[in-house]
Amino acid sequence: MNPAYIGRFAPSPSGPLHAGSVVAALASYLDARWHQGTWLVRIEDVDEDRSVQGAAEGILALLDALGMHADGEIVWQSHRKDLYQAAAERIAQDTYPCGCNRREIADSRLGFAPDGAAIYAGTCRHGLGPDRTMRSLRVRVPEAGLDEITFTDRFAGKVTQHLARDSGDFVLKRADGFWAYQLAVVVDDAEQGVTDVVRGADLLDSTPRQIFLQRLLGVPTPRYLHVPVVRNENGEKLSKQTGALAVTAGDEPAAVAALLASARFLDLDLEGAPPRTRDAFWQAAIPAWGRLLARRAAAQTTSPGA
Ligand code: GLU
Repeated sequence: MNPAYIGRFAPSPSGPLHAGSVVAALASYLDARWHQGTWLVRIEDVDEDRSVQGAAEGILALLDALGMHADGEIVWQSHRKDLYQAAAERIAQDTYPCGCNRREIADSRLGFAPDGAAIYAGTCRHGLGPDRTMRSLRVRVPEAGLDEITFTDRFAGKVTQHLARDSGDFVLKRADGFWAYQLAVVVDDAEQGVTDVVRGADLLDSTPRQIFLQRLLGVPTPRYLHVPVVRNENGEKLSKQTGALAVTAGDEPAAVAALLASARFLDLDLEGAPPRTRDAFWQAAIPAWGRLLARRAAAQTTSPGA
């Protein structure tokens, strides 16, 4: 085992896995196996209202049926609230209570973040004001000019965001009382010693906020690799409701077909005849991932910025 590599797959159990989440799972699993590292699975059920009964168990059964087995215990965010609370307390001087409701946030917004969320105007930055009660907890991002976060994604290349302009002061604890994904994911990745985050590119825009929180908390920033998002024929992101993948335990042909479809999407060249068993798939796919990384690295050195 390579102690310098800990990866993870972190599905939200808001429904069954769809083809897009299987692509993310496959990429993170292959990257961990290629680096002879550890691969963890974390159930991100921090938003308990969106968690669907039985979905997590379905996801774990599907990963199993596909042959992706976690190293170590499965971790559940809903059991880790104390860690999120402690982290928020550690950075208390950079957070503030916000009393704004949806309407007020929308009316005063500075614009829209890349993910479509309203950019908060900072109304409660200097205090809640009389007769207002706390609804959420926000973190104060640095002023324009000091707010740039840049990182190099292993697939997407250099990514830069200006937090004051692109996200604004964002929520750590939501009005419904649940901890926000941005805080939970940072706390968990750090606590689990994750060195490599491999996930879908729909989270690329969240990464600068996560790096900002890592710096505030004084924890290391992992390497990031975001794989392209699978879209349907209308160019829309798949949803858990529409694209659920049905592979039952013991149905090896269905498992192999799902793995091959994901491998094709990732542009993995398995070389030779398509594998017909799960074991043959993994034997071909792990070195194919290594070749894909080498191909991409060569392309990046010949065309900088690609
Ligand atoms: N739980 C998130 C999701 O299912 C993924 C979080 C992550 O990989 O950082 O979209």
